[in-house]
Amino acid sequence: RLYGAERRNSSGLDLSQRSVRDDMAAAIKSFRDSPAIAAGPIVSGKAVTGGGDMVRVPFDTETVLGSCREAQEDDIDKALDTAVKFQPAWDALGGAERAKHLRAMGDILEENAERLIALMAREAGKTLADGIAEVREAVDFCRYYAMQAEAEFTTAQKLPGPTGETNHISLHGRGVFCCISPWNFPLAIFTGQIAAALAAGNSVVAKPAEQTPLIAFEAVKLFQKAGLPVEALHLLPGGGESVGAKLISDLRVSGVCFTGGTTTARIINKTLADRDGPIIPLIAETGGLNGMFVDTTALREQVIDDVIQSAFGSAGQRCSALRIVFLPDDTADELIKGLIGAMNELIVDDPGLPRTDLGPVIDAESRASLQAYVQTMKEEATVLHQIPAGKIGETGYGFGPALIELKSIDQISEEKFGPILHVLRYDPDDIAEVGAALKGKGYGLTLGVHSRLESFQREVREACPVGNTYVNRTMTGAVVGVQPFGGEGLSGTGPKAGGPHYLHRFATERTLTVNI
Ligand code: GLU
Repeated sequence: RLYGAERRNSSGLDLSQRSVRDDMAAAIKSFRDSPAIAAGPIVSGKAVTGGGDMVRVPFDTETVLGSCREAQEDDIDKALDTAVKFQPAWDALGGAERAKHLRAMGDILEENAERLIALMAREAGKTLADGIAEVREAVDFCRYYAMQAEAEFTTAQKLPGPTGETNHISLHGRGVFCCISPWNFPLAIFTGQIAAALAAGNSVVAKPAEQTPLIAFEAVKLFQKAGLPVEALHLLPGGGESVGAKLISDLRVSGVCFTGGTTTARIINKTLADRDGPIIPLIAETGGLNGMFVDTTALREQVIDDVIQSAFGSAGQRCSALRIVFLPDDTADELIKGLIGAMNELIVDDPGLPRTDLGPVIDAESRASLQAYVQTMKEEATVLHQIPAGKIGETGYGFGPALIELKSIDQISEEKFGPILHVLRYDPDDIAEVGAALKGKGYGLTLGVHSRLESFQREVREACPVGNTYVNRTMTGAVVGVQPFGGEGLSGTGPKAGGPHYLHRFATERTLTVNI
C-alpha cells in the first residue's frame, strides 16, 4: 500500500511571513528570559529532575540552557518492568485506537511548533528553516504511522485455504522497543522512532542523544499531554555506554531501533547477538559517504545551488549530506569557481536569526575533529576554500564550511560529519569505474546525479545503488511518505523511515488456522 491520495503532509510555517518571524523571535526570547530547563528521566509519567549535566548553547557556550539528570539503575528497572507489563494491553488495543494517540501527538506538536523550533535552535544549533522542517517531519511521522497502524494493525487479514479451514494473518508488537536517537534530528527522529514502535503495538523506552536531552524531555511531555498512556513510553536519558548499554543488554527489551554512527550500530549488534534469550531485531540507520556525479550536460547554476545546499545545509550534519562531488574534467574549474563564489555568500551565525544559513556544529569534540581533518588535508590534498565561522567561531562551536580537492578517491574512506565537501575531478566516460570505487567504500545511503542524459543517470544508479537517489536536485531532506529514507551496507539495515514497510520491522506476524 502506498498511502497516496488520502494523506497530506503537514504544511509547516512560512518564514517569509513577517508574523511567523515575529512569533519565532518571541519564542527564542522566551527561552533567553526563562530559567534553565531541568530535565531527567520520565518513568510512568513522573519526571525526576534536578542535578545532572549542564546543557549549553552550542553557539554561545557561556549560556546554560538547562540540565539533565542521567537515568539510574532504578529508573531503568522500573521503566522496563512497567513497559513489559503494559505492552500486551497496548497491542490488544489495536491499530485504530493507537492511531488516535499518534494523531493527537501530531496535532500537539503542530500547536507547539514555535517553542520546539526555538528550543532546537538553542539546544542543537538548528537554523529556523531546519527547525520548521523538523517539526513538520515529526508531525508527518506520527500521522503516517497512525494511518498505517489503522490500515494494517487493526484486523487480521483472511488468507486463502482449503474448505473447512480458516486462515488469518495479523501483525503485533514484539514487546518493549528500545529507541536510541541522534542529536542531529533531536525531534523528528526521536519522535519518528517512538511513533513507529508504538504504532506497531510496542511499548517504548527511549534514550535520546546526550547532546539533546531537553528537546526529548519536552517531546515526551507532549506525548503525555496528547493522552498517551504513561506506561507506554519512558524517557531514559544518559550516555551510550551507561544507559544505552544497560538497555540493550536487558532481556526485557525485545527490539532496538537506532540511528547514529556505524561503529555504535556494530557494538549494538554484537551485544544483541551475545544475549541469552530471544533473538531480537536491530533496526539501524547509520552514516553515509554520499557522492554526487555531475556531467557536462548539467545546468551550472542548479548544480551549484544543489551542491551548496546538500553539503552545507544543516552545517553538513545530516547522514544524507553530500560528501564528495565528482566534477567532469571539462567543466570542473568553472564549477569550482562557482562553488567558491556561492560559499562566500553563506552566513554562519546564530541559528535563531532568519538570515542564517549555517549554525554551529554540535560540540567541542566535533569541531576539534573537523579542524584537525582540514589541517591534515592541507598537506595531503588541497583545501580550495574555507569561509570564516564569524562570531560563533569565538562564542561557540562555529566552523566555517570547507571545500577540499582530493587527488584520488583512495584518500577518503570515512564520513566526516560536518560542513566539509570534497571535490574529485573525473571523466564521465569512466562512470562505471568511478562509481564502483565509491560503492566499494561500502556505504549506501544517498546519491546525487546532475545530468540531462537519462543514459548517464542510469549508469550512475547502476554503478552505485543506494537507499535514496536524487536526480537533478538536492540530496537531503527526505519527505515522509514521499521519499522513504534509509540505506544499505554500512549505512544501515535498510528499512525506510516514513515508508510503507517500516512498521513491519517493529512487528511480529502471527497466523491463525482454525479447522471448522
Ligand atoms: N532524513 C534526513 C534527510 O533526508 C537525514 C536523516 C539523518 O541525518 O539521520 O536529510
